[in-house]
Amino acid sequence: MTFSYRALIGFLFFLMICIAGTSTTAAGPSKPLLIYTIDVEGGQATLFVTPAGESLLVDTGWDGHDGRDADRIIAAARDAGLSKINYVFLTHFHQDHIGGIPQLAAKFPIGTFIDHGPNRETDDAGTVKRWKLYQELLATGKYKHIVAKPGDILPVHGAQFTVVVGDGKLLEKPLPGAGQTNSNCQKAKQPPEDHSENEFSQGFAMKFGKFRALDLGDIPFVEEVALTCPVNKIGKIDFFIATHHGLFYSNSLALVHGVAPRVALMENGAKKGGSPAAWDIIKSSPGLEALYQLHWSEEGGAAHNSPAEFLANPDGPDAGNYFKITAHEDGSFDVLNSRTGKTKSYPAK
Ligand SMILES: [Zn+2]
Repeated sequence: MTFSYRALIGFLFFLMICIAGTSTTAAGPSKPLLIYTIDVEGGQATLFVTPAGESLLVDTGWDGHDGRDADRIIAAARDAGLSKINYVFLTHFHQDHIGGIPQLAAKFPIGTFIDHGPNRETDDAGTVKRWKLYQELLATGKYKHIVAKPGDILPVHGAQFTVVVGDGKLLEKPLPGAGQTNSNCQKAKQPPEDHSENEFSQGFAMKFGKFRALDLGDIPFVEEVALTCPVNKIGKIDFFIATHHGLFYSNSLALVHGVAPRVALMENGAKKGGSPAAWDIIKSSPGLEALYQLHWSEEGGAAHNSPAEFLANPDGPDAGNYFKITAHEDGSFDVLNSRTGKTKSYPAK
């Protein structure tokens, strides 16, 4: 009798654990994906951390400045609890995107570098110099190296990063669910052509559950239009990192209104990016709920800057504040302004 009583208690205990386990799985929220848009003063450094614990850093900011940009990236990585950055995705080889590589690599472990292939701007001494430093780092054999091309899905676990543009080439087939005719392809005033490394920028669309983000590096207007006209190969986006720091060379009406982001964010500096023409296009995009800026844009002035709550670094002394986006599989997301400590929520639709 004693044995069966114990067996019964044991069985009931087991049952309770099963029920508790089931209810936790059913009711508990799944882990979010994090995006840090790090202030590198008009360059780019954007850190994605997936729920699988893998990280992908888009670009490394500038060199010089006593390692300022590397330090800001490392601070974000530590905030996310990282001890290593798994992937560094280089959009292109300009100083404001790859300058910070040696300083970052000297201070923080990196797994794999992803780029678009060789430097295509071989007549610019500054670009060549920084590309060579990057090649020297790869030659140490300490890092894995991937040359990506449009259509590739990056080997990151926990979210799907699909390369949509790179080395002057575009995604051939629309992303799943995309490919609708874009009604925003009417002729707009074309900015000057740009055949620098910007033209060879690689960029991706990222999918995490129902949440979608887009980062196209510094691709010029012409490529944005080619990606979204006459059919929009990207589809709709929740979170758009404004192309090329929010400069008017990019951020075409066709792209921005075509992907119709809920929230856009300019990685601009006080004196670089945030052009009024680009700001107007983004601000008037259908369905836009907010336009965030890493900095107050001097070029934008009072008429073309977002209200203070959407600015990480308002006019005045620079503190290197950042935004942290917490995205959920149901499509909802929160944006934290590190300056104010306040979070704004964008519920699932
Ligand atoms: Zn740039």
